[in-house]
Amino acid sequence: MLEIKNLHASIDGKEILRGVDLVVPTGEVHAIMGPNGSGKSTLSYVLSGREDYEVTEGEIIFDGENIVENAPEERAAAGVFLAFQYPLEIPGVATMTFLKAALNAQRKARGEDELSTPDFMRRVKTAAEKLNVTQEMLRRPLNVGFSGGEKKRNEILQMALLEPKLAILDETDSGLDIDALRIVSEGVNALRSPDRSMLVITHYQRLLDHIVPDKVHVMSAGRIVRTGGPELALELEAKGYADYAGEPA
Ligand code: ADP
Ligand code: MG
Ligand code: MG
Repeated sequence: MLEIKNLHASIDGKEILRGVDLVVPTGEVHAIMGPNGSGKSTLSYVLSGREDYEVTEGEIIFDGENIVENAPEERAAAGVFLAFQYPLEIPGVATMTFLKAALNAQRKARGEDELSTPDFMRRVKTAAEKLNVTQEMLRRPLNVGFSGGEKKRNEILQMALLEPKLAILDETDSGLDIDALRIVSEGVNALRSPDRSMLVITHYQRLLDHIVPDKVHVMSAGRIVRTGGPELALELEAKGYADYAGEPA
């Protein structure tokens, strides 16, 4: 599904990714852990195609194709989903309306017809029920006044509707409270599927108590420096990242 080869990327002329090698097979959930500043978020942005990053070397093979030159919309249409770390608040737009626009934008990019309103409503209802999102929340303006947990729920709902082949969740180091942690874990576990890969980026081991990954990778100074099973997360929790301090990029 995803194979990253010797990926180097810079922002404002500063090299942050310094030769990332990573393989995520179809159907697997992999975690990336690592100290602050090691390039975890940068990797997620580069995978999603954010244009302020320059890929200077290497390949991102997704579904057999090198997508390094592809625009973010093309990647999204092909099935790459990056969860938003800092969800947008849009006062005038109901959450439901936003979700419909997001889904139809993806369909348009794929050359598919817009969903009819009944079809869309059916899909939202199914996904919302599974994730405990209330109808009331769907009618409220997008993210306005949502708690941290509600924003997370909404993000996971968006992911469920878009049915990505590769979902990337970058969980900021700062603020997953217990509620949000549970929502993210349940959402990820509910969306595990033999034809979907997930990359869960986290600074903390505790998320991985709930989402048991197939593999754990350690990132340090812009590279993947170690790969192991779920037990690696426990080892990191016990020993910290001192062994992986490295030079910040
Ligand atoms: P992590 O998510 O692992 O904490 P990041 O990917 O956010 O790490 O950051 C990696 C490094 O890139 C850090 O040293 C950070 O300061 C640097 N960095 C991030 N964005 C920029 C930028 N716009 N300009 C220069 N350096 C940046
Ligand atoms: Mg290299
Ligand atoms: Mg980060």
